[in-house]
Amino acid sequence: MATTPKLRLVKPAPCPLCGKPRQEQYRPFCSKRCAEIDMGRWLKEGYAIATEEAPEDTGSEGQSEKPPQPK
Ligand SMILES: [Zn+2]
Repeated sequence: MATTPKLRLVKPAPCPLCGKPRQEQYRPFCSKRCAEIDMGRWLKEGYAIATEEAPEDTGSEGQSEKPPQPK
């Protein structure tokens, strides 16, 4: 008679860093420490990417280094 929809018990994902059960407070991590570690990584990656995309071409301000190409 009672057709109760089965609630899927989703296992809480563990801390992606150390695999411990995560805390709501620091989700998705288990502790502030792990959160900070991940944040550090993130920032590092961000910096790495930013460094990679550093502009290399200098002197493109009005100075045309390209020789005129004859047709
Ligand atoms: Zn952790």
